[in-house]
Amino acid sequence: MSVAKDLHACSVREIASATREAVVVSPCPVCGVREARPRFGVEGCSAPVVVCSQCGLGRYEPMPGANEVLSYYPEEYYGQQGTKFQRVIESLVRVAAARHIAFLSRGLPARARVLDVGCGRGVILGPLAERDFEVHGVELRVEAALGVDPRAEVRVAPRLADAGYAGDHFHEVVLWHVLEHLEDPRGALAEAFRVLRPGGRLVVAVPNFSSLQARWAGAAWFHLDAPRHLFHFPREALLRLLEELGFAVESEHHFSLRQNPFGWIQSGLNRSRRLPRNGLYTLLHERSSRAPAPYSRGMRCWLLICGLLAAPFALAASVIAAKLRRGATLHVVARKPG
Ligand SMILES: [Zn+2]
Repeated sequence: MSVAKDLHACSVREIASATREAVVVSPCPVCGVREARPRFGVEGCSAPVVVCSQCGLGRYEPMPGANEVLSYYPEEYYGQQGTKFQRVIESLVRVAAARHIAFLSRGLPARARVLDVGCGRGVILGPLAERDFEVHGVELRVEAALGVDPRAEVRVAPRLADAGYAGDHFHEVVLWHVLEHLEDPRGALAEAFRVLRPGGRLVVAVPNFSSLQARWAGAAWFHLDAPRHLFHFPREALLRLLEELGFAVESEHHFSLRQNPFGWIQSGLNRSRRLPRNGLYTLLHERSSRAPAPYSRGMRCWLLICGLLAAPFALAASVIAAKLRRGATLHVVARKPG
């Protein structure tokens, strides 16, 4: 596959329903069933996204190879010098992350050991280190972890199981919008279970493939993040996987101010063929200072005006979806019994 010229402009099309007959596939990593229906075609990918006939998990079939997956993450994906967004947005992202820290640190003992899987630039680890927790991170590539707080111990490994952590070690393991990027999500959760101390807590967040937003937007859904999301978890499939691996699910949360209203806005814009896919996101995303601003001046104004006008409706839709437990993103707290 060749990565789309623009990092977030990779087009996704709905496969016509007449050709959506069930096909035999490799066993589903959640339920083991070998039957799925083709759902989306992703630009540049020979494999379609199929949806498991039993549990509703979405995934490529066949799964692309490791080198192909690496090509989905060119260096600019990680931003420069450990930053990923335009300065104002970057500050908002850090503020949202700081609020999120209160959630992640609730109930943890002093000096608790916390592991952030796919820690990226350390937006979680820095504030947790401020609170005197012992912070650890694991990343696939060293470039991804640039700018991490120096108090964090970061390991670079292709899979969590290769990072060499001791069993029963961490008080908390966090997979924040990471599971859907991994080639073996079941293996990663099983390893998270192993490295957690008995009574330790797992926090896992994913886009919710059974959300109202995903259903409404279809191929236009912002949180499909093609081609990087290898799996698309419906709520029920994620809960089932956690319980099968031995976790006791404690709570689920369906509202994210940072993710869900923007998802409604950008998915709505993506439904228009006249607008560039994920155009508003691209506009707000960091570019090198020498690169020209994307799109024409008229298009930039149009995207911003549409985004502002849609914001109140997007916020209301996010609140309603959360009340119905069909939020566009979902985070689950689960515990290793002990
Ligand atoms: Zn399944």
